[in-house]
Amino acid sequence: SGREHDDRARRLAELDVRTVIHPHSVIGAPEEPLILERGDGAMVWDVTGKAYIDGTCGLWQCPVGHGRPELAEAAAEQIAKLEFYSSFGDYSNEPSIRLAERLLELAPPTMRRVFFTNGGSEGNETAIKLARLAHHHAGRPERSVILARTGGYHGMGGGSLAATGIDRLRAGYGPLMPGIEFLAKPHAVRGADVTDALIAEIEERIERIGADRIAAFVGEPVLGVGGMVPPPPDYWPRVQEILRRHGILLILDEVVTAFGRIGHWFGCERYDVEPDIIVTAKGLSSGYIPMGAVLVGERVLDLAGGAAFLHGFTYNGHPVGAAVALANIDILEREGLLARADRLGRRLLDALKPLERLDHVLEVRGVGMMLGVELDRGPDTAAAAAGVQARARADGVIVRASGNTIVLSPPLVIDEQQLDALTRVLTEHVATA
Ligand code: PLP
Repeated sequence: SGREHDDRARRLAELDVRTVIHPHSVIGAPEEPLILERGDGAMVWDVTGKAYIDGTCGLWQCPVGHGRPELAEAAAEQIAKLEFYSSFGDYSNEPSIRLAERLLELAPPTMRRVFFTNGGSEGNETAIKLARLAHHHAGRPERSVILARTGGYHGMGGGSLAATGIDRLRAGYGPLMPGIEFLAKPHAVRGADVTDALIAEIEERIERIGADRIAAFVGEPVLGVGGMVPPPPDYWPRVQEILRRHGILLILDEVVTAFGRIGHWFGCERYDVEPDIIVTAKGLSSGYIPMGAVLVGERVLDLAGGAAFLHGFTYNGHPVGAAVALANIDILEREGLLARADRLGRRLLDALKPLERLDHVLEVRGVGMMLGVELDRGPDTAAAAAGVQARARADGVIVRASGNTIVLSPPLVIDEQQLDALTRVLTEHVATA
């Protein structure tokens, strides 16, 4: 009955508050949890039975949408056959071999090998260590500096957090991994002409540090957590030219941008840039099970061939994750979801763009199905963004406040009606933010 339903929901909420420390929460001051229990396409339902249009697909991880029986079957079949065995050293399994082959077919032609992980942070730990090891092995151990960007997000591990340029996430943990140098946030607010200045800064910094001390440059093709910021025009090809000239490796963190989010298998295709390492996760398995992959290019292999890479986490190369990822890639391909991201993303951007006329909206921006509405309420901006998130949720629409920006990244299967309903609710709450 409805009453039992509500009792269960309340008991679960109380229990959650008493027992769980949530990622990115305040310890000892838990909030009222939103306890979700079911999903279908672009919709999710909570334990009280309330429906939500999913405007973020959790943390960007679900391009194919929720509730796909095919992915459940792929996982169940593999678990029944062989749930897991380590991939360390000379052990292997068929799903990860097949997935590596598939990824290399889809990736730019300079990509040569795949290292599997369980997620994005692990992927960036792997990429940073591999870039340093490559130079070390090639007889240049002093090439260890990593160039990163303000506003960049690469994860929560030792190296991945050290390379994350968001102050609120770095504070309180003591000294982080040394050897990371931050460049300016690559953000052309409302089309301002900033590319030359960004490029000049990179040149100057490399000059100051000395190219012979720098291992790699790490960046997201489009800043995600940093506010859904597409790069200024020409930025990536020009960055790549500088890095090549100085023998600095380019690590592209495509944890969000790969697998259709911005209309391509890999975001680097959209920006005409050829990285040396591509880090992926999230959309690789649509989050049905934790899975990530680091694609390694020929220049890295040339440097690192023969090096002992004593690095790996127990569950790397997980056969269940690989089986799910293969089935997920099949769905993306079969249903034409890459092209859909572009089409629906443009519709959403056009619908939200008029919000820029409001004084307290700094910018509405996006590429593919990665969009952001950045507010400007002075020191109260983050609180205003959080308020929009809360009020939209009450109205059955999930969006996320990331700092000053309302972040949108719906599943690529969302339909026009759901998209328009999302737009209506968001517009109303941004207008009164
Ligand atoms: N890199 C980027 C660009 C991300 O957006 C994220 C997560 O949001 C990560 C890395 C970290 O991935 P994970 O949370 O799977 O460790």
